[in-house]
Amino acid sequence: MLSQLPSLWTRSYFSSTAGAVSAQTIQDSLDAQKGGEYGKSNHDHQAVLNYQDAHAAWFAANQALFNQVVAFYFEVIQAHERVLDLSDKEALRALEKLTHTTKKNPTPAMPLSALVEDAPAMFRRAAIHAALGSARSFSSHLSRWKKRKAKAQARGKQFTERPPVPPRTWNKSATLYAGQWKERTSSSIVLKVWTGKCWSWIKVRITGRALPADAEMGSPALIRRGKHWWLHTPLEKHFRSPPTIEHQVTANTATTICAVDLNLNEHLAVCTIQTVEGTVLATTFIGGGRRISGFRKQQLGRIARNRRKTGIIAEGEQDNVHLWRKITHVDEQIAHLVSARIVQFAKAHGAKILVFEYLGSLKPARGTYSRRGNSKRAYWMKGRIFTYAKYKAYNEGMLTSRVSPRNTSRECARCHHLVARYEAGQPAEGYTSGAPLVFCQACGMRGHADRNASLVIGQRLITRYQNPSQGKPQAPLRVERGEQSPGVAACQDAKSEEGPSFPQARHADGNEHGTAQDRSLRMDEHLSDIPHPLRFPCES
Ligand SMILES: [Zn+2]
Repeated sequence: MLSQLPSLWTRSYFSSTAGAVSAQTIQDSLDAQKGGEYGKSNHDHQAVLNYQDAHAAWFAANQALFNQVVAFYFEVIQAHERVLDLSDKEALRALEKLTHTTKKNPTPAMPLSALVEDAPAMFRRAAIHAALGSARSFSSHLSRWKKRKAKAQARGKQFTERPPVPPRTWNKSATLYAGQWKERTSSSIVLKVWTGKCWSWIKVRITGRALPADAEMGSPALIRRGKHWWLHTPLEKHFRSPPTIEHQVTANTATTICAVDLNLNEHLAVCTIQTVEGTVLATTFIGGGRRISGFRKQQLGRIARNRRKTGIIAEGEQDNVHLWRKITHVDEQIAHLVSARIVQFAKAHGAKILVFEYLGSLKPARGTYSRRGNSKRAYWMKGRIFTYAKYKAYNEGMLTSRVSPRNTSRECARCHHLVARYEAGQPAEGYTSGAPLVFCQACGMRGHADRNASLVIGQRLITRYQNPSQGKPQAPLRVERGEQSPGVAACQDAKSEEGPSFPQARHADGNEHGTAQDRSLRMDEHLSDIPHPLRFPCES
């Protein structure tokens, strides 16, 4: 089901298999946003390998041997735990001394040659590093467990938690250090692999996007995905960190920002590009909301029916695992696709800053199980879209910010008075949550509601820096407080500055209704993009 959906480049941002984009590197990148001189971004380049059928067996043999050697070194480290107190470089030297036979070191304590006769040095070293990584992780789990145990015992409590166990099986992908590969071009590479009988150089063809010229290439790894072998290459890009948002907004009136309004209706995201001076340059609607919502509802309905049959009602029980997984996968994919589209759009228009609004608190939907579950998941997805977009934007040298969500849907982007929100064909008055159109009585602006909200979001960021007296979380809104449309709950302010990436919703309105495409935009510029729905992964 999923194989058809992610395009190669969406994948290249986040790889679940290679681990090149670790949580740590993401954190590093995000920390760098706070104003380091240089930024660094990591992602994985992934290429499909084209090889003779026989080579697949060789790759498998190579990986099996690699894991044997990793397991061997893991044992060596367990027998010499102090190795873990050393730096990686010193540990490598110590481990080679313990295992590698040379003229100077004729009788190592635990010779590797007992396991494999002639492992190339770089194969050995890649395995040592892999083993060190696993051993360090195991050791820290173990010491945390010991601490918890000691703490419980000191309090006289019973401690039943089982200690962590070392890995029983190994399934690491073989990393190819320099010396294990050569002659890499855009279409081929020569690899040194263990065939099961001997070490052999083989030439394989590569298909995939070209390696970017401006990134530093790490050691490629042979990755098995299903039945096919891929070559993953970690890439590190160094660049000068962009100037702070404040600087960009105050020092250059031509700075363009891309403001994003995330929604729960058909338009998952509405993005507008505007300059700091206020000229609106482009808009895009990223659709597909109704389909993802329909898909989720269908799956949740199935889960509910299964539960009725089996009598499981408790939340969080391990039931319907594959259905949950299906929903999660699709949500995840959509979040990646939408965030990628946002960043792509921002980049295409030369935007330097991405701005979202804080997600307000989750307002639980009423109704059936599938309806409640659906709206909860939709909120989670908004959080994920933000997180991914922030990361992807940073890789493109863009910074991301958030503004107060207060009344973004109710304020006129042109004059900041309250707008009327209404359905097409209805009178332009009152406030109908989730309705597609807005009309401002004060200045006569008519437009698409989500697009208006997106413009307001962008303006809030600009105002924050241009009128520093207006505190960060406070939104400018020149309206009489207390004027509320009947039946609409008050909006909530986001409480924290840069709080959890998850839930909390804005629009006091549920935005459950589908939104018709707006045909009556009468704001200062034309609509540059017609909404094009996302390619959708749900069809199985
Ligand atoms: Zn107005």
